[in-house]
Amino acid sequence: MRKLMLTAVALVAGIAGASAQTYPTRPITIVVPFAAGGPSDALARVLADRMGRSLGQQVIIEDVVGASGSIGVGRVVRAAPDGYTLSIGHWSTHVVNGAIYNLPYDLLNDLAPIARLPSNPQFIVSKKSLPAGNLKELIAWLKANASEATAGTAGAGSASHVAAVYFQNITGTHFTFVPYRGTGPAMNDLIAGHIDVIIDQTSNSMPQVKAGTIKAYAVTAKERLASAPDIPTVDEAGVPGLYISVWYGLWAPKGTPKDIIAKLNAAAVEAMADPAVRKRMDTFGLEIPPRDQQSAEALGALQKAEIEKWWPIVKAAHITGE
Ligand code: ASP
Repeated sequence: MRKLMLTAVALVAGIAGASAQTYPTRPITIVVPFAAGGPSDALARVLADRMGRSLGQQVIIEDVVGASGSIGVGRVVRAAPDGYTLSIGHWSTHVVNGAIYNLPYDLLNDLAPIARLPSNPQFIVSKKSLPAGNLKELIAWLKANASEATAGTAGAGSASHVAAVYFQNITGTHFTFVPYRGTGPAMNDLIAGHIDVIIDQTSNSMPQVKAGTIKAYAVTAKERLASAPDIPTVDEAGVPGLYISVWYGLWAPKGTPKDIIAKLNAAAVEAMADPAVRKRMDTFGLEIPPRDQQSAEALGALQKAEIEKWWPIVKAAHITGE
């Protein structure tokens, strides 16, 4: 009996090993938890394309939107832990949402980190016709137009929402939040002049700022961006300390075999080393983490540290809804 059981165990282990060895044998899906055309979707598409070449299989993007990204993340938590359904997300979906929503999953324990991905700060941007020439004038305009002014967000607790709440707290301004399914559609409405401001990831705003279809007042970082040297930091422009870095990561469902995670990590690392990918990231103000920070362990450690840092801040700010 004992012998039979050992044989059975060896057989199962053998099958698992073989599947990890041949993985991937079919296309892989990365779930983006925000609308197509936004910053998360755009980053995922660039990386997926390059990762697919390393893995020898197509990597497909699926946008699963709702509840500031928590629906899309939940889809991956419940998926089979076989390396074919992955979750891309960032500081707000994989950290902040846990402090705001009563999630039916645990962000740290129900997901296995794969790789830390690029990060970017945000630009404080407004519609082109807004009559302000700098951040101080924007703040004055928001105060004078408190009852009508609107800010687009990707939903309660999204990076664009949390940053705007901080902006309000620091500046003493009040304006109405308009939630979208991602900052891609919010950007379309900003360009059209239907909303007044967004605090948006540089990767999403940069092309519009460069094209002159919207106005940028400051970047939420300590240093100016090399790709946008004319835009002052929040310290220089008058909202000191509003530093937000939206860092991305890639996760798999908990229980995904270690060698599959290693293959996916290697593909993500190769993508981030590709000169063509690096050039695109640079143009959009996205910073690629140093090589020793691209590991699954580094992502897990960062996520844990950020949960410890941000949950008390977000809870104290009572960010629970729009
Ligand atoms: N990540 C964006 C935000 O949190 C939304 C998006 O990717 O569309 O504001």
